[in-house]
Amino acid sequence: MKCPFCAEIDNKVIDSRLSKDASVIRRRRECLACSRRFTTYEHIEEIPIMIVKKDGRREVFNRDKVRTGMKKACEKRNISMNAIEEFIDELERDLRETGEKEIPSARLGEKIMLKLHEFDDVAYVRFASVYREFKDVNDFVAELKSLLSNGADMGEKIKKEN
Ligand SMILES: [Zn+2]
Repeated sequence: MKCPFCAEIDNKVIDSRLSKDASVIRRRRECLACSRRFTTYEHIEEIPIMIVKKDGRREVFNRDKVRTGMKKACEKRNISMNAIEEFIDELERDLRETGEKEIPSARLGEKIMLKLHEFDDVAYVRFASVYREFKDVNDFVAELKSLLSNGADMGEKIKKEN
């Protein structure tokens, strides 16, 4: 690794640290020529997750898109940006763990809903109301009612339906 200050190739690692989720190694290095220090990051080369839309078109899984939807659902809720980022990290990890190269957009939506439900009930209903495109108010009220009566069982219910 070339020193960013003097371009010398040789350096020594003075500190290695694993990120919280163990997906990145951060290394502090010291240049053997000029003794200045710099940091390198090592992570696994990521293969993009492809999302297959209803009409068969494919697009790369896009964190920004999920973030936008989440922010909208979490508006005026007491949820930090950090919590949303962690949520998306976890979602992305889940998607990778399926080992599938292509994931139907419907499944992505359900995954977001399941996670969102554990996260915040209001945000969940908001997201569900957009995602499920409830045909009329009655559908929406029915969903809300079952959410209120079932509480924690709701996540299980969605899982079984699919
Ligand atoms: Zn140097």
